[in-house]
Amino acid sequence: MLLPPYLLESIAIRGSEQEARIAQETLRHDAALRAARAVGGARPGAAADAGTPGRANRVIHDARSTETLPGTQVRAEGEPATGDAATDEAYDGLGATWTLFFDAFGRDSLDGRGMQLLGTVHFGQNYANAFWDGQQMVFGDGDGERFNRFTASIDVIGHELTHGVIEFTAGLRYQGQSGALNESISDVFGSLVRQQSRAETAETADWLIGAELFTDLVQGDALRSMIAPGTAYDDPVLGKDPQPAHMDGFVHTTSDNGGVHINSGIPNKAFQLAATALGGNAWERAGQVWFNALTGGQLRPDCDFATFAQLTIDAATAIDAKTQAAVEQAWAAVGVAPGVAEVPATAPLAANTKLHLTRSGGFAGITKERDFELSELSEPDAEGWQRLVGGSELNDLSRVSEMHPDGFVYHVACDQVPLEVQLPEPALPAAVKELFQRTLG
Ligand SMILES: [Zn+2]
Repeated sequence: MLLPPYLLESIAIRGSEQEARIAQETLRHDAALRAARAVGGARPGAAADAGTPGRANRVIHDARSTETLPGTQVRAEGEPATGDAATDEAYDGLGATWTLFFDAFGRDSLDGRGMQLLGTVHFGQNYANAFWDGQQMVFGDGDGERFNRFTASIDVIGHELTHGVIEFTAGLRYQGQSGALNESISDVFGSLVRQQSRAETAETADWLIGAELFTDLVQGDALRSMIAPGTAYDDPVLGKDPQPAHMDGFVHTTSDNGGVHINSGIPNKAFQLAATALGGNAWERAGQVWFNALTGGQLRPDCDFATFAQLTIDAATAIDAKTQAAVEQAWAAVGVAPGVAEVPATAPLAANTKLHLTRSGGFAGITKERDFELSELSEPDAEGWQRLVGGSELNDLSRVSEMHPDGFVYHVACDQVPLEVQLPEPALPAAVKELFQRTLG
């Protein structure tokens, strides 16, 4: 999935009624798809044909605003442009991705054996996402307000197809640090597809992911920035880009599969630094190092940042001393010590973590609110909040809870985690309700 759940949730909370409905539908759809994938629910009969070795073999389908895959075939390899922008962008983007992997790294398609590249455009109605479903690429047309069609950014196509390459190679688990590496490696090769197709060097590239996705309504340049993680957007509805660029800002969260779209900013920045230090075309030196680390057989599904850093340094050392130095310095600059796992699986929230709690709604319309730090509370209450904010319960509760007319509603927000949820009082477990009431006093 290109769009992380926290971004869609932000739209569901702050967007217009129409947008909120679309965001919720997309979230529901994504959750169902993830659940189906988790239990191995591949579509039957969709196994891709082997193509011609050494040549791209693309087929584009049109779902015609339904969610039926793959849809009607509209353009096959070698056929002329159709005039439909999404179809032709998907065809070109699949081709540019195939070209990067084949020309730069000698890999023939996602599986290394010339697998056919299948894409479906015009998926669903107002569907604001793009994804690799384990068999093929799927592109939505955007929500008609904040997001353009998802074929518009060639790096998005490269990103999604790289998830396919990762599935065929290291199989990085989509959770925590290994999940953030999965996201980062997809951004790295997605960006390289864009840079190669535009003949940009490490110095001239903008290092943005999804620069064409946002409409003018959004205050932001792109979905992510590899050169300056955390600065891609800052918008009243979408919120602020939550990516850290250094281990000091590593985000501990259970949402977004443990922050896979958030902490990927750290290895993204390491790649950009290494590529810029080496200079020239980023796919030639730094890209080769990352590709060798990905496909060298040493990268395990549960790999963490430190281990991945060591694997890239080993791959760089095999090239030459200059490459080794550039890669070592890049990881040092983002605070990752190679080969040493320095991040515990779950870290408690700091005592100075700031939280905001509001109780509003209700027949009489009385609002109570409080901004507080955990250190201001009694020890048992501070621990209660740590468990709630550090765990997934609040997010889970907010997803399944119906709003009740005239019922009290709690709003809980925390910038550091990040967390922002609305919870109807009647849906809360008694212990949580009592904690909230004690906190408000
Ligand atoms: Zn992704």
